[in-house]
Amino acid sequence: MPQQSPGKALPGPLPEWFPRGMALLRDPALNKGSAFTERERDALGLRGLLPPHVSSQEEQVSRVLENFRCIDAPLQRFIMLQSLQDRNETLFYRVIVENPDEMMPVIYTPTVGLACQAFGHIYRSPRGLYVSAEDRGQVAAVLRNWPYRDAGIIVVTDGERILGLGDLGANGMGIPIGKLALYTACAGLHPRRCLPVMFDIGTNNESLLEDPLYLGLRRRRLTGAEYDDLMTEFLDAAKEVFPGIVVQFEDFANHNAFRLLHRNRDRFPCFNDDIQGTAAVTLAGVLSALRVTGAALSDQTFLFLGAGEAATGIADLLTSALVSEGLDEAAARRRCWMVDSRGLVVRSRSALAEHKRIYAHEHPLIGSFFDAVQALRPTAIIGVGAVPSAFDREVIELMARNNDRPLIFALSNPTSRAECTAEQAYSWSDGRALFASGSPFDPLEINGRRFVPRQGNNSYIFPGVGLGAVAVQASRITDGMFMKAARVLADTVHEDDLAQGSLFPALSRVREVSSRIAVAVAAIAFDEGIAGIEMPDDLNAYIQAQMYEPEYVSYVN
Ligand code: NAD
Repeated sequence: MPQQSPGKALPGPLPEWFPRGMALLRDPALNKGSAFTERERDALGLRGLLPPHVSSQEEQVSRVLENFRCIDAPLQRFIMLQSLQDRNETLFYRVIVENPDEMMPVIYTPTVGLACQAFGHIYRSPRGLYVSAEDRGQVAAVLRNWPYRDAGIIVVTDGERILGLGDLGANGMGIPIGKLALYTACAGLHPRRCLPVMFDIGTNNESLLEDPLYLGLRRRRLTGAEYDDLMTEFLDAAKEVFPGIVVQFEDFANHNAFRLLHRNRDRFPCFNDDIQGTAAVTLAGVLSALRVTGAALSDQTFLFLGAGEAATGIADLLTSALVSEGLDEAAARRRCWMVDSRGLVVRSRSALAEHKRIYAHEHPLIGSFFDAVQALRPTAIIGVGAVPSAFDREVIELMARNNDRPLIFALSNPTSRAECTAEQAYSWSDGRALFASGSPFDPLEINGRRFVPRQGNNSYIFPGVGLGAVAVQASRITDGMFMKAARVLADTVHEDDLAQGSLFPALSRVREVSSRIAVAVAAIAFDEGIAGIEMPDDLNAYIQAQMYEPEYVSYVN
């Protein structure tokens, strides 16, 4: 497939395999639709197959936006964009890159949650690979069916914990597809280097098992050694078929997520975005908030609502950041407290899951979140429990009584699971909250003051980390890379952003952010001796040159 670089023509004559006529119009990677030029129409057998006017890409973007904006229902908007991706990939990415605030909530959270729930009902065309429990012993052969050997990143899920929506089985395929679209849109990873994988080992979701249109395996989930063996076979096969591949684990349930990460992170370039990506974006939000308050990280106490992957990942990275500011590890961990469905996570609680134990401190058991806020007087509350409205008026007013500028991060997704809305956080704290959310909220005005809340969106982090790792063929993805990514992201936030309550930069700057993170991650790979290539003379230029731009290339000189 030709590289698509801005305004450039393909070098030399078209290769033998290059499709012509209707086959070209049906190839989403090459199709330009009504933008094929007169010369291309003549040379490639297209004359008569298209309306006579030759559109510019700008006209095509306007046409897409006009249609998109006529649709009210988010799921129908998702379907419309998906069919554009199936028809004309370059135009699809152009539309997203130019309109990230409008498009990203549709191709990813929150709308992707609806799309996953309805996956079997809205399914239109294949995308990505399905590795199922029935492929045992032949996973490498399945991977070889993928048409491109230069895949760079696999995003894989087993669908057991999709966003805050639970077990959606094979319907979870919407997540790897959406995440990889973000890789291309946010960091310029070429679409051909992106491989979505559904690790379909069944589902325990009864309503899906009974749904006649469900497309996944109709069996209960594989567990234990059988699960682990199939995952090991998959990872080994991925390494063999796609040398240098990076694997991103996505939306696995706790009982598999931590084990998979810990088993594989030192032998394979892999990471878990729910744990590590979330951690980095949240640390960046905290660092931005501290630029406003002027307080030190070491003065903070964090209370999490939820004690799962996101909470543990964030607390681990906060601990590393606190240690880098001089605290010893035990003291740093004591700055992080968690409340789960059974109350405050404390030492005396029996049968705590492994990942919660290091945050189980000596303290009497407290049942409610409000009581925990009262007892611990946190400076920051971080909602990652998918419990809607858990940050109620009482909690936020108490935070505002205890702190001049309380940090209130309502990170649960989708919007229906948010712990509070932006409006609630600002209005119940007299406009003093430093707020970040997991789902987007519109700008708002309270008492004559305008607030622009921004999403603690993992898309600021994982695309840059992945791009940097792939570009230098890193053999591992380290914690240091995520810590650095958080600091780079926080550094990109302007004073003007902070003044309007934004703890993150505008999404329209995400490609700039990603390229800076990719350069920083690549530099760490060289420093740590885990890069698989020679150090380029100019790392920045090297990364920039890898970034795909969704612009048409001339096929005919
Ligand atoms: P998880 O399943 O690993 O953890 C959920 C945790 O919530 C568990 O510890 C559970 O015990 C706890 N919980 C459940 N009910 C509770 C209750 N009533 N009170 C207190 N705690 C309760 O899930 P996760 O990966 O940690 O994700 C949690 C949420 O965070 C999801 O909604 C997810 O979409 C969101 N999230 C947001 C971002 C982001 O905004 N950047 C990133 C990752 C995850």
